[in-house]
Amino acid sequence: MIIDKAANPIKVGVMGFGGLGQAAARILDPKGEMTLVAAADQKGYAYNPTGLNLNTAISTYNNRYSVGYLDEWGTLSNNSIEDLITHNRAVDGYFLALPNLPNTFMADVARKFINSGWQGVLVDALKRTSAVEQLLELQSDLQQAGITYLTGCGATPGLLTAAAAVAAQSYAEIHSVKITFGVGIANWEAYRATIREDIAHMPEYDVETARAMSDREVAQLLDKTDGIISLENMEHADDIMLELAGICDRSRVTVGGVVDTRNPKKPLSTNVKVTGRTFEGKISTHTFSLGDETSMAANVCGPAFGYLKAGIALNRRGITGLFTAAEIMPQFVR
Ligand code: NAD
Repeated sequence: MIIDKAANPIKVGVMGFGGLGQAAARILDPKGEMTLVAAADQKGYAYNPTGLNLNTAISTYNNRYSVGYLDEWGTLSNNSIEDLITHNRAVDGYFLALPNLPNTFMADVARKFINSGWQGVLVDALKRTSAVEQLLELQSDLQQAGITYLTGCGATPGLLTAAAAVAAQSYAEIHSVKITFGVGIANWEAYRATIREDIAHMPEYDVETARAMSDREVAQLLDKTDGIISLENMEHADDIMLELAGICDRSRVTVGGVVDTRNPKKPLSTNVKVTGRTFEGKISTHTFSLGDETSMAANVCGPAFGYLKAGIALNRRGITGLFTAAEIMPQFVR
């Protein structure tokens, strides 16, 4: 396909080139307003100022486990994030599609960007409340560093949290926000970090036990559950994001769902229900449901780039610091 790129497309990097990182690259490929110029994984990074070739990047990663092996543009490194940001600064914004394992990992990555002197936009798809709380502590450092950081910009938190913030406007008082997600993937290995982080919410597991599990142990656990992970009352940052946006107390926000790791069909329709009281005293519920045909990757990476574009607009106006997906409207990337 011949793509009509804008005169000055936004130069994008993707940190983490696993399930979501590769989907992000696929989503960007036909876009004119953004070009993927950088990608990093655990063993290396690739950077091409005029744009990475999608198919070569994905086949190199899948065959050799690192984009660092890319001919001409790849560099092998055990410190790929730091190396990429210090050596190649011509990147306007990064989508951080990295595992948050341990739970402090994303805040550590944010500190690396702050210390590097790089300026631009960062977007993540973080999930845990406690992980977003760590980023809040970096608010003034991000601001001073000239970085506009948008957190919680995946599906949940992200798309559904933003939908709840919009839906809340009909009410004088919000009684509850209930997010229920259904995820279907053909095999768990395509999204290792996502599945490990989901296991960390299961009874008797936590972030550290899930992180320490070998791939074999994860497969054994999924054998026992027929590939299904059912979760309720999860620690999900939708709560703190809606609280920070002034919508309701975090105790009124609940998140749960079902993940089928052996079938791309969703086990249930992902939705958010926002219940409140109108100014006339009526109690009502707005429901926003995602189409069953949309994948997790579409619902995470699409919004992430919408927020990245919004972040670029803020950054160019000199507005820096930390924002959440519930306080900024994403823009549509063409
Ligand atoms: P994955 O396991 O498929 O891929 C992770 C990638 O990160 C790999 O390429 C790996 O090499 C790379 N990586 C790991 N450590 C690294 C390091 N130190 N330096 C550089 N690269 C490193 O992960 P995934 O399943 O795509 O998930 C990514 C993240 O997205 C997870 O944290 C997950 O929880 C999150 N997620 C969020 C939502 C949402 O709606 N908010 C939904 C799904 C997933």
